Amino acid sequence: MTERILKNTDILLRAIERLRRGDIDVVNESDLTVNDIIEALKDYREISEQYLKERIKGMDTLYTVSKLTRSMLGRGDFLSEVMEALPKAMLYPEDARVMIRLADQVYQSDSFVSKSQRLIADIITQEGFAGQITLAYANPHPGRDIGPFRQEEQDLLDEIAAMVSYFIERQKTEEKLKLTTKVFECIKEGICITDANGQIQSVNQSFSQITGYSFADVYQQNLRMLKSGKHPQEFYLDLWTQLETKGNWSGEIWNRRKNGEVYPEWLSITKVTDDNDRVLNYIGLFMDISSLKEADERILFLAHHDPLTGLPNRTLLRDRVQQAFCQADREGTKVGFLYLDLDNFKYVNDSQGHPAGDKLLKQVSECIRSCVRNSDTVSRLGGDEFAVVLSNMRSPFYLAGIAEKILTSVSNAVSIDQQAMRVSFSIGAAIYPDDGEDFDTLLKLADTALYEAKESGKNTYKCFTPVMAQSMLQRVSIDKDLLLAIKLNQFFLEYQPQFDIASGKVIGMEAFIRWQHPKLGIIPPSRFIPVAEQSSLIGEIGDWVLRESCRQNKIWHDAGYSLPIAVNLSPCQFARYDMSRLVKEALELSGLPPSLLELEITESVLSKNTEVNLKIVQTLRAHGVRFSIDDFGTGYSSMTYLQRFSVNRLKIDQSFIRDVMTNKDDANIVTGIIKMAESMGMNTIAEGVETQEQCDFLRDTGCTELQGFLLGPPLSQQEMTRLLLQQANQTHPAISQAIQ
Ligand code: C2E
Ligand code: MG
Ligand code: MG
Repeated sequence: MTERILKNTDILLRAIERLRRGDIDVVNESDLTVNDIIEALKDYREISEQYLKERIKGMDTLYTVSKLTRSMLGRGDFLSEVMEALPKAMLYPEDARVMIRLADQVYQSDSFVSKSQRLIADIITQEGFAGQITLAYANPHPGRDIGPFRQEEQDLLDEIAAMVSYFIERQKTEEKLKLTTKVFECIKEGICITDANGQIQSVNQSFSQITGYSFADVYQQNLRMLKSGKHPQEFYLDLWTQLETKGNWSGEIWNRRKNGEVYPEWLSITKVTDDNDRVLNYIGLFMDISSLKEADERILFLAHHDPLTGLPNRTLLRDRVQQAFCQADREGTKVGFLYLDLDNFKYVNDSQGHPAGDKLLKQVSECIRSCVRNSDTVSRLGGDEFAVVLSNMRSPFYLAGIAEKILTSVSNAVSIDQQAMRVSFSIGAAIYPDDGEDFDTLLKLADTALYEAKESGKNTYKCFTPVMAQSMLQRVSIDKDLLLAIKLNQFFLEYQPQFDIASGKVIGMEAFIRWQHPKLGIIPPSRFIPVAEQSSLIGEIGDWVLRESCRQNKIWHDAGYSLPIAVNLSPCQFARYDMSRLVKEALELSGLPPSLLELEITESVLSKNTEVNLKIVQTLRAHGVRFSIDDFGTGYSSMTYLQRFSVNRLKIDQSFIRDVMTNKDDANIVTGIIKMAESMGMNTIAEGVETQEQCDFLRDTGCTELQGFLLGPPLSQQEMTRLLLQQANQTHPAISQAIQ
């Protein structure tokens, strides 16, 4: 008995093993028949149930289950456990329908009923999905042996089992094939399969999309047809060597598309061999990485260049400067460093918008580049700031020459949308190793020199000198001390007379603020107004100037000398404070008639925030206050703005007056402004008039008023009083009083 059990167990386990391997023809093999299995299973109770369950677990076809079912009729409870352990087989819906039909026949078999057996065929067909079939058996009298099936019952079950097996196996194979085909066609990567000689046998759609070759183009062609010619012979030699020894190769390779374009791809090749290690195929899987490479290169470029102008940025500049230093050390030469800043760039941005500003920056960057050698570096540091590094310089004169060349060429070269523009640079220069020995120091020193260039009227260059370093230190302290200046009463005003060109009489004056610094002496407004504009101090300072000018002019007015006083307003004051209220307050407080106050605004007040500013100007004009436009010609106000704002006079900027006798363009601009003002019913006043020739030119051109060193510099309050006295040619008691 034990022997037989062991023998049967052995047969059973072998059967199970073979079934598990998918050897579905097992039933036809002579050494192991279905009956053998059934026989073996009859004694299963003698075998450890646990052991059997363990072995059955993992068998994945119902085929097996149905075979087992026949021998386990008395143990429905055990069977359902086995069923639970088995994965559910998936069937196509049409196969499931066949199964239902067969199961129905089993159901209706008399013999089942007469033996009180019931076989439950439970077929679940899920919506939109392949059917799932489970055959289960339930015995109404558990534990009672109900004997084997009759022949026709067994045949039916055999048929079911065979069908199930076939359906399942077929479905599995088809699914696998479908999946493989889908992957082959849908995968983004190109696939190319060759035979052992590298003749192309199969390619997918992505291959054709990437290379431009159809399957017909490449079938039976050698892989060589894709070569770009970019790699040396050794490259391919290495590739094939690795492929032969390791069985695969992956890396970047340049190939050629059908249209001739050469492109980079990431390629993985695998060698496929048979059991005897004979090469059957090579499978190549590749990805077009040209856009990735472009993005990589772009990122690398952007990390070192300014995106607008394409010039090296500060990081790359630092690198180039370092190289230039090394070369200079080797060859005993010098490195010149220029720090450039566009003059009045913010006017362009404010009045013409950022796109125009961008165009301007591109043009000037081209212009600078055209002034230097290829070996020199031009860099954009940000905003309107540029740097030039002149390597291998034998003499400092070279540096000056380049600075001058840039100044000249930029003044001729720039036009936006076919409109010529007046553009200039201020340039600061420093030299390695004379002034400094590292990048940061040179940058700082050149910046200091640049500041001096701006101070001395812009459109010029300055080379660094140690004296400049001193004034830079002073600038830093200005920042701190400005806070206390109002409280400590350190500001005072100077007054520059304005003259009528026909009669030579004083017709007004302009108030200029001065700062009496306890340590640095008198500081001009150009040094601290821009600092104040960065903070709320411009409000306080502007307010003080307004009140002080009104107060002083009221004294002169009371003394019998009634002339308008012009007060400079910063565009920041307009933008941030309620100017109409502040001006009215200053007038009320002083008692000065509004017609004796003139406010000097700049063109940017006209073009920026126009509607709000127009309202302020109109309110104050209605109140009787006068307006003029300072530095006229440097900004970009249109005729429309001028008309709408209807100011009293235009002040021609001193930069035009300076060269009016020598520069034809400037003379034309001055003439144009005067004529235009005339036609719009406005007066013109020229500022910065220093010579008799300028004065004569202006008179002849029709300018009505003058202001400048020629006729009178800015004066102290006492000097101004004296001038008024002289002009009046009489001693008024109140004016004499003001002198003391
Ligand atoms: P601005 O209003 O255009 O003033 C003209 C500047 O030219 C003044 O310099 C004046 O002293 C100077 N100047 C006058 N005649 C001549 C001349 O014949 N030749 C030359 N080369 N220069 C001459 P300042 O006083 O240094 O003022 C510079 C700028 O500072 C002013 O330009 C104005 O924009 C600003 N500023 C002056 N005072 C004030 C103020 O109280 N408030 C505000 N917001 N800005 C002020
Ligand atoms: Mg002014
Ligand atoms: Mg001015």
